Amino acid sequence: MVVYMTNALYLSDSYLKECNATVVSVKEGKYVVLDQTIFYPKGGGQPWDTGKIVKSNDVFNVVYVGKFSGEISHEVDRAGLEEGDRVHCTLNWERRYKLMRSHTAAHVFASILCKETGALITGNQLGEDKIRFDFSLEEYNREILEHYIDKTNELLGKDIPVKWYELPKEEAMKIPGIVKMAAALPPDIPNLRIIEIANVDKQADGGTHVKNLKEVGHIRLLKTENKGKNNRRVYFSFV
Ligand SMILES: [Zn+2]
Repeated sequence: MVVYMTNALYLSDSYLKECNATVVSVKEGKYVVLDQTIFYPKGGGQPWDTGKIVKSNDVFNVVYVGKFSGEISHEVDRAGLEEGDRVHCTLNWERRYKLMRSHTAAHVFASILCKETGALITGNQLGEDKIRFDFSLEEYNREILEHYIDKTNELLGKDIPVKWYELPKEEAMKIPGIVKMAAALPPDIPNLRIIEIANVDKQADGGTHVKNLKEVGHIRLLKTENKGKNNRRVYFSFV
C-alpha cells in the first residue's frame, strides 16, 4: 500500500479556515486523501474537524477525518470526488475554534496539576462543550480540583502567548514534563512538535491551539469521578 503524506497545514497554521487542494485518492467513493489539508484528524484526545470539500459547485460534507497508517483520510457524505479533482476546503470554524480553546485550556490545567502534585495524565477527551481528564493521583477530592481550576483560570485571563514549533527529539526529551501522558511514548520521528505556553508549559503535541491564553475564556468544574488511583476523572467546561 502506498501511503500519501498529505501536507498537514493545520500543524503550522491553526487559524487557516480554507485551502485549495488536489484529490490524491478516493476509496469506496467516500474516503478522500488530499495533497494538503486544513482538516485535523482525530488524535491525541482532540476530535476531528468537520466542514466542506467543494468541487466547482458540488458540495461534499466532511463527516469524519482520521489518520490511518499515517495517511489523513476525509470521509465525505456522498460519492462523486475523483482522483485529480481540484477542490476547495472550508472548515466548520466554530467547532474547530472551540476545540482549540479547549485544547489550550487542557494544557494549562494539566501543567498546573502535574507540577503541583506530580500527577500523570492517563487519558483525556476534548469536546466542544466538555473536557474530560483522567490522571493518577493519591490525594484526591473536589476541593483540590477546584483549587487547580482556580489557578488555571488565573492564567487563562492573561495575555500569555502560545507558540508551536519543532525541535529535534533528542533535545526535546531533555525538557522536564515534555511528555505528560503516562503511557505515551514519543513517536519514532526525528523532530517533535512542541506547544509552548510562555512560562507555563511545554508539551510535545500534535493538536491545534489558540495563540494567546486570553482567547480561551474561563473554565469551571462540572463533576469528578473516582475510578481508582490511576484513573481520577474530572470534567470541566467553559463558563
Ligand atoms: Zn495536547
